[in-house]
Amino acid sequence: MPKSNYGKMEILVGGEWKESASSELHRSFNPATGSEIAEVPFVSRDEVEEATSAAAEAFKKWHDFPITERVKYLSKMKLVFENHFEELATLNTQNHGKTIQESRGDIRRALENIDAAIGAAYVLGKGENLEQIAEGIDESSTKEPLGAFAIVCPFNFPIMIPFWFIPYAIALGDTVVVKPSELDPIPTTQLIRMIQEETKLPPGVLNLVQGGKEAVQSLISSKEISGVTFVGSTGVAKQVFELAGKYGKRSIVNGGAKNSLVILPDADLGHAIPSIISSSFGNAGQRCLAGSNVITVGGIHEKTVDNLVTSANKLRVGNGMDESTEMGPVVSESAMKRIENYIQKGVSEHAKLKTDGRKIKVQEYPDGFYIGPTVFDNVEPQMAIAKEEIFGPVLSVMSVDKVEDAIELINSGTSFGNMASLFTSSGLAAREFRRRVNAGNIGINAGVAAPSAFFPFGGRKESFYGTLHAQIDTVDFFTDTKVTIARW
Ligand code: NAD
Repeated sequence: MPKSNYGKMEILVGGEWKESASSELHRSFNPATGSEIAEVPFVSRDEVEEATSAAAEAFKKWHDFPITERVKYLSKMKLVFENHFEELATLNTQNHGKTIQESRGDIRRALENIDAAIGAAYVLGKGENLEQIAEGIDESSTKEPLGAFAIVCPFNFPIMIPFWFIPYAIALGDTVVVKPSELDPIPTTQLIRMIQEETKLPPGVLNLVQGGKEAVQSLISSKEISGVTFVGSTGVAKQVFELAGKYGKRSIVNGGAKNSLVILPDADLGHAIPSIISSSFGNAGQRCLAGSNVITVGGIHEKTVDNLVTSANKLRVGNGMDESTEMGPVVSESAMKRIENYIQKGVSEHAKLKTDGRKIKVQEYPDGFYIGPTVFDNVEPQMAIAKEEIFGPVLSVMSVDKVEDAIELINSGTSFGNMASLFTSSGLAAREFRRRVNAGNIGINAGVAAPSAFFPFGGRKESFYGTLHAQIDTVDFFTDTKVTIARW
């Protein structure tokens, strides 16, 4: 049975669950009802240090476990997800607000990454060998784990995003300290509790702290930490990347996004419209791969806008726990206000508000953080709603004459480069789009171009800082290559 309040979130240090001694407590909410669901302690630097020391200590033995033994824990981890599938989906929806279907998708994606990590650790983590590179000389490389890593998470996928990293780090012989978002820490915390209890991972391999900015700064500056993975907004991403550089830590830093979806006149609108609707309003627009701008090319503008508005107005907005809900609330009251301000900004900038999500009322939950699907037409590239990340269910529609103009708008209209999609039946146009657009993820007739676990996950421009991306790329991130030259 789901609880209505999960109390004070605990931390996991060296295999022990503890209450933080911190008196700085933040409130976490169920966004669907607006009621408090947990308290989040902002841990002290000393508590972070305890966790990083535990992770560093555990590393000494863990990296000596044979890989065949390490991956057995990942197989047990998979069972935890499978055995608690619905419970985890419920926790996710209760604390984040997304629909229960979206929560199930979140878990499936995490599971995919455990599978990929098991395979990748064997296949990509094994190093190389070149015999007789000169007379009597062989040269070989091995990939070695590095130590303890900090895994800093955003609020929008509390189950999937930590698992872009955790399984790879553990399979490769590293240890981790995870920090969930303070907005919705329950799914991550409860999942890690289940994993620790049911897999019996050696103490200290998997640690968890709670908090916000200060916890992240303490993690990065800790001498026990070898590197950090971060996923979050661009402003914070820049700070994290700089701090990691200052302390000489390797980092993978995924930032924010502003993604465009382009429709050509030869597109199949019957496919494109639902795909755009789900891209823009799925997860209430709180996805780094969410479609935020639609760019129509040629004479299909009016038809596209009419179709988008009709479909947007049909979406059932409500509590994500109700199986029939198609769009849940946004994560917090302050997110709701920020998004409402953006809608007001769009109106002030004279974009045409075709459907206004601020008017939505979910009768049963008057205190929930609801915003309905919002569509603006006549949006100009210089407007804030076209350039800035809103991270909510707000879609801006623009029009251009040629596909080249759309590509130019994507490349120079925003500072981000996470994802762009094209809807067309022309292979040539699709090829040009893929080659010319400066973004890390390209969709062709796909509204959410989300790489599966066996591909890297990262963007370009201000959507990403670093070199290696999330998911499969972390095999190289969580290991260092040692080369041995042997003469016999
Ligand atoms: P956020 O940047 O507010 O927070 C992310 C994490 O950083 C949290 O754990 C938070 O506690 C911590 N944090 C906050 N301020 C900090 C600071 N000054 N220094 C150090 N740490 C700090 O992001 P969010 O609101 O939780 O998540 C939404 C953002 O994440 C959006 O911008 C979205 O586009 C982005 N995102 C990107 C990807 C991607 O792969 N590129 C994926 C998911 C989400």
